[in-house]
Amino acid sequence: MERFDVIVIGSGALGSSTAFHLARLGRKVALLDKSDIASQTSARAAGLSGHLRQTEAMTKLSTYAVGKIERFSDETGEPIEFYQPGSMSCARRPEDAALIRERVAMGERLGISAELISPEEARARNPFLETKGILAVSYMKRDLYLEPVQLPRGYARAAAKLGATLIANTRVIEIVVENGAATRVVTDRGEFAAGTIVDAAGGWLRLVAALAGAQAPVVPMRHQLMITTPLAAVKSSQPVTRILDANVYVRPDRGGLMFGGYERDPMPYDRDKLASDFKIEDLELDLTVLRRLTDSVKDQFPIFQEHLDLQVHRGGLPTMTVDGEHIVGETPGVRGLYVIGGCNVGGLSVSPALGEMLSELITTGETSLDISRMSPSRFAAGIPEQELQERCRERYAKYYTFRIGQPPVRSAAAASA
Ligand SMILES: Cc1cc2nc3c(=O)[nH]c(=O)nc-3n(C[C@H](O)[C@H](O)[C@H](O)COP(=O)(O)OP(=O)(O)OC[C@H]3O[C@@H](n4cnc5c(N)ncnc54)[C@H](O)[C@@H]3O)c2cc1C
Repeated sequence: MERFDVIVIGSGALGSSTAFHLARLGRKVALLDKSDIASQTSARAAGLSGHLRQTEAMTKLSTYAVGKIERFSDETGEPIEFYQPGSMSCARRPEDAALIRERVAMGERLGISAELISPEEARARNPFLETKGILAVSYMKRDLYLEPVQLPRGYARAAAKLGATLIANTRVIEIVVENGAATRVVTDRGEFAAGTIVDAAGGWLRLVAALAGAQAPVVPMRHQLMITTPLAAVKSSQPVTRILDANVYVRPDRGGLMFGGYERDPMPYDRDKLASDFKIEDLELDLTVLRRLTDSVKDQFPIFQEHLDLQVHRGGLPTMTVDGEHIVGETPGVRGLYVIGGCNVGGLSVSPALGEMLSELITTGETSLDISRMSPSRFAAGIPEQELQERCRERYAKYYTFRIGQPPVRSAAAASA
């Protein structure tokens, strides 16, 4: 049986980044995937990468991640193409205008270039945006966007150049735990041993953790976007634009406009729907969800009422957590089994930073940036299934206006007391 220092299960953005950073630290790594490398949810993301997140700790991580994308080719030797026109967040309600001001103030505290601009200036930057109903706009000058597959593919290739073994189309069906420690994985193509195993299985995170009897309480949620056919006025220099209460984003792509968003009645993919041989290409898409979202911003983006032709409609299964924080670290109860997931639809952009932090945690027990709030141990007492489902749906449905940390998570034990 071949033996590695670390086996990473899942070659999306989070797994590939972890594998690369571990290989860079000299570890013998296997990166396993049941599909082709970097082919699932990560490849279907919108590719938005920004600085400001809900908390200071997450903002510091995201800022670090943007920097790593800027120097991606230097770090990995792999090509990357990205556009850096900044991003704008637009508020139509007074409470969202207040949220925007809070986040800009946080950016200023952390030395991040964030400013309030007028609706007219926002329109000058993005001519598809109408100012009707817009109360306030923030502008993040250095936010960027990119074709998403470049990150996981680049990290996987760079890991391989450093000696990592990429094992595609190989499904982990069992994680063997001996004396409380994960020791090897059984796949449909043989067994591999390792002192450390990383569950980076994206939408399957919870199922893979359960193979070792561990918990990773996330809910995979369908998320979709579409890209129109080319429009004359689209320029790659136009910033990513969000309407906060409508939970939608727009950016230039392939000469047309990408439109994506978070519906109020999302579709969770529970464990029954998500068979282990399910692939993202099997995901049922529903354009009416996106059409309802375009209707909700018809005053700000009338273009989506007039121009309906599409070149792309795609979706994937990001995972939500009850508290909006990612899940990164060693699982309580199974030594040597680490989890990196609970992406909350932000895993692609933060993957350069989180993969590096997990590689530090595995090799030294410490991280250079604070990820303590992401520890899986916060869920050690369990979460009642109904609460898990409800809170994750709520987190998704209020995507841009969700406030982390409220209300606090109740444990399964507390709920039954
Ligand atoms: C439409 C859309 C837009 C998005 N936009 C953005 C965005 O702009 N910015 C952003 O940061 N994020 C965005 N996201 C979210 C982002 O895609 C996710 O956060 C990210 O892809 C998560 O990466 P991952 O590595 O956890 O998952 P994945 O990319 O799904 O990788 C997990 C891998 O694990 C493998 N696997 C699962 N089970 C097993 C097993 N048993 N054995 C072996 N392998 C297994 C799977 O085959 C898969 O390849 C978007 C998502 C969607 C769907």
